[in-house]
Amino acid sequence: MPEGRLWAIREVTSRSIRSLPEMSGGVGVLDAFGVNTFNAETMRQKLPKAVYHSLLETVRRGERLEASIANEVAHAVKEWALAKGATHFCHWFQPQTGLTAEKHDAFLTFDEQGSPMERFSGAQLIQSEPDASSFPSGGMRTTFEARGYTAWDPSSPIFIVDGPNGKTLCVPSVFISYHGDALDNKTPLLRSMEYLSERALGILRLFGDQASSRVVPTLGPEQEYFLIDRAFHALRPDLVASGRTLVGAKPPKGQELEDHYFGSIKDRILAFMQESENELYKLGIPIKTRHNEVAPSQYETAPIFEEANVASDHNQMVMETMSRVARRHNLTCLLHEKPFAGVNGSGKHCNWSMSDSEGRNLLEPGATPEENLQFLVFLMATLKGVHRRAGLLRAAIASSGNDHRLGANEAPPAIISVFLGEQLTRVLDALEKGEKGGAAAVERISLGIRKLPEVARDNTDRNRTSPFAFTGNKFEFRAVSSGQSISLPVAFLNVAVGEALEEFEGALKARVGKGASLADAVLEVVREAVGETKAVRFEGNNYAAEWVDEAKRRGLLNLRTTPEALAELVKPETRSFLARAKVFSEAESDARYHVKLERYLKDIEVEVEALVDIVQAHVLPSAFKQLALLAGAGASRTAKDARSRLEAVVDELSDRVGSLHSVAERAAGEGSLEKRAHLLAQETVPAMAAVREACDRIEESVADEFWTLPKYGEMLFLV
Ligand code: ADP
Ligand code: MG
Repeated sequence: MPEGRLWAIREVTSRSIRSLPEMSGGVGVLDAFGVNTFNAETMRQKLPKAVYHSLLETVRRGERLEASIANEVAHAVKEWALAKGATHFCHWFQPQTGLTAEKHDAFLTFDEQGSPMERFSGAQLIQSEPDASSFPSGGMRTTFEARGYTAWDPSSPIFIVDGPNGKTLCVPSVFISYHGDALDNKTPLLRSMEYLSERALGILRLFGDQASSRVVPTLGPEQEYFLIDRAFHALRPDLVASGRTLVGAKPPKGQELEDHYFGSIKDRILAFMQESENELYKLGIPIKTRHNEVAPSQYETAPIFEEANVASDHNQMVMETMSRVARRHNLTCLLHEKPFAGVNGSGKHCNWSMSDSEGRNLLEPGATPEENLQFLVFLMATLKGVHRRAGLLRAAIASSGNDHRLGANEAPPAIISVFLGEQLTRVLDALEKGEKGGAAAVERISLGIRKLPEVARDNTDRNRTSPFAFTGNKFEFRAVSSGQSISLPVAFLNVAVGEALEEFEGALKARVGKGASLADAVLEVVREAVGETKAVRFEGNNYAAEWVDEAKRRGLLNLRTTPEALAELVKPETRSFLARAKVFSEAESDARYHVKLERYLKDIEVEVEALVDIVQAHVLPSAFKQLALLAGAGASRTAKDARSRLEAVVDELSDRVGSLHSVAERAAGEGSLEKRAHLLAQETVPAMAAVREACDRIEESVADEFWTLPKYGEMLFLV
């Protein structure tokens, strides 16, 4: 076996499990939870009463902080952070790279006498100006006016990150241009939350709720990921460059035996999970669930749901923390949507609902007929929003990585449809058939709904193929990709539902204005919506080939590639909708589109380079060694046959690399970004798959001693 692979296997098999003395006896969740966050409890202790209430009020109303309060908060934050040993602070934000960004400043300054002192002012807390000219902006900020700035989002708690030799105070922030344009993923999410809140309150008021001051989307993202040994990762240039394997023959055993899902967790992995979770608890992130996923070496972690903007920040921290802690365990955490062909990819199921300011879940079927009427309104608004804005939702989750899930025959498909479950389907069908007016109909429908939760939840496991499923008291948006920020998909979902709620409010008011009872008005409006949204409801198998035809007949979009999906973002009607909802001005939509399209181009171009390098540096040399071996193996028919077969594959590979070069060059020479992206999707990606197919055949015919790249069987099964 080549030295590299041998070294990696020796490393892996001799690894000891990293067990921390301070954790090995067990650390109670409550001992760790939130100790590194400036959370409500810490604020209550550290802030003067008036400041504390004023800050809470600001957060509750989602407003910006007054300077005088900011100074007092900054002072308290500084004292708290210094007592914990922090030396630096940063504004922590989500630029459009999909990662987070931070630029650290020391608390250090000098007083008038020239003595060093530690300082952190209200101004520094509220706002900072990173020299941000190198972040993607899609033309929103030309480099000569690079002054994008970050501003504290007080609704997301400040936290301290432990480093190996010190601590850093992190201030969750939004990132905007000098003219107020969104340059990050968080700003559109916050804007969408305002839009949704207002529309949802409009409906609650109709139902007589005068008390609720706000409605927030709630979010629980289930994060899937792979862990492989770091030594294997280091020997795979494709994983290093692009996060996924670009070649690799199927191992003798894949996920066929289904013995990994919910299997017992190996000690080394468990040690990683426990350490990550402990770090996440310290940051106040309510991690709840951990388990093995379907593919070998694939895992999942899920938190208890939170308000969407906090959940989004927390999910970024989960991804970062897991990546960091993995390295300490000599593991690499792969967050790519499709690191390995032939086994499941990774997604991030976003469990989503809406909650009023009292914490009542608006998608929870109720106990009384009135509550259930209200439930129906919010349910149908979601259905209607997803139906009408399916293209936008698809655009939000589009990436080169997610194309391997959504565009291929894998869960979930690129067609956005909604699964409701049997019970609810029956309720809606009954409604549609025209249970007109009167208390009796309301009673009957209500009875149907009240039986719902348990049954609907059971149903969910029976349909894991749906990209958007109702699971008893929330929806689960399953097409979101593992590696991405969840801010944008959730932002678009929020406004899609908000838009429908606004229409319902108008329709209900009109009917009530003409003398209808609220119950009758709701039944009518809901009935209409049931009819309108019929096409988007699908209870069957989303992977089946027939569904593609059926969806087409129903007029549903099937956007298989990123360039097609992204085009939805800049359709005139979509742009003006996003502008109306105040999520993106038309210029911001265009900028977002460009950033995402450019990202797609770069992803694919990097993959092409990496693939060609691998062919030259690994696959061909291995093949030639094998050919030499066969040439020296005597004149037996077996050796001769093997040689001519391998020669044929090698020639085929060379031809395919040639074709890949020429399609990639043609794409690169294309002036328009759109055309370039379409060429990449339509021609380059298939050309890469063809190269890979030949490489994998070569891998299968080369002696182990000549194959230099770690194999699937090693990466996926040795930990
Ligand atoms: P299920 O068994 O239906 O998948 P779980 O209780 O396991 O549901 O929850 C899965 C995820 O959904 C968790 O992250 C959970 O916190 C989240 N979740 C539960 N209720 C809500 C809600 N009302 N809004 C958003 N997410 C929720
Ligand atoms: Mg899951």
